[in-house]
Amino acid sequence: VKSKAKKSIKSAHPVSHAAVLGAGIMGGGIAYQSASKGTPIVMKDINESALALGLSEAAKLLTAQVERGRSSPQKMAQVLNAITPALDYSAVKPVDIVVEAVVENPKVKSMVLAEVEQVVTDNAVIASNTSTISINLLANSLKKPERFCGMHFFNPVHKMPLVEIIRGRDTSDSTIATVVAYASKMGKTPIVVNDCPGFFVNRVLFPYFAGFNGLIADGADFATIDKVMEKQFGWPMGPAYLLDVVGMDTGHHAQAVMAQGFPERMTPSEHDALQLMFAQNRLGQKNGQGFYRYT
Ligand code: NAD
Repeated sequence: VKSKAKKSIKSAHPVSHAAVLGAGIMGGGIAYQSASKGTPIVMKDINESALALGLSEAAKLLTAQVERGRSSPQKMAQVLNAITPALDYSAVKPVDIVVEAVVENPKVKSMVLAEVEQVVTDNAVIASNTSTISINLLANSLKKPERFCGMHFFNPVHKMPLVEIIRGRDTSDSTIATVVAYASKMGKTPIVVNDCPGFFVNRVLFPYFAGFNGLIADGADFATIDKVMEKQFGWPMGPAYLLDVVGMDTGHHAQAVMAQGFPERMTPSEHDALQLMFAQNRLGQKNGQGFYRYT
């Protein structure tokens, strides 16, 4: 194992310049994190206002750091300068790695991945931040699937240490090594997993949500479950609050992927709390009402 690890570290391509496609919640966070940790990054979107929002979110985080005395105005300017907003691919051409973080739609992602592969150099690595779409499926859109893998960050990117790096059927060792090295440089903790429904985190999380949903269906009270998990069990938040943070729409979509992958274990019942909340448009924090109210 040791010699294999050494070999794969050796085969990592140096990443001195990156690009992220999509300047939304995740793309903006990835750009901020990369630039803060010393890798300049091009942030490309199709929407000018998304780029402006991505940059202003980065500026907000940096301002908070300056106010707390953890950074200086000079460092803040340096980090902001290291994020290049772009509406076309010209600035993406020379980068060593591209992280795709556009909307969670297989057709859009496949189109964007095929587009960017035509632009970058032969050595560039391409990764997708998809939460649920099969890496093998997305790899079909590429001419060189060996240069492609998943790179799944968690929200908020600047706070969450874990990054799942997902190896597809054709992903090469050097692609994995390059993405592992880039994630580490970003100050994250990478774990490498094989492609499967739910990757690692959702395979752990959704059985937990299924346990929670089962307790609710049996008459338990969600706020009590949260209280026990938070106060007595010591987790940062309980399952109901976590679902409100994730969003019932995102949760519903991931639950469907899990049910398709593991129908015997993960098919939700008709009393499933997540399904019922989704059907009532109680999406969680994003629309002000989920298990809890936020208005
Ligand atoms: P979002 O809707 O906030 O942002 C998506 C961005 O992609 C938008 O700014 C949109 O303009 C842009 N976009 C759409 N088509 C594009 C194209 N052709 N080229 C460039 N940009 C394009 O979405 P998000 O929440 O940031 O999610 C992005 C990805 O990250 C999804 O795959 C999602 O599953 C994944 N993800 C999300 C979370 C989360 O908690 N939000 C967590 C982990 C992973």
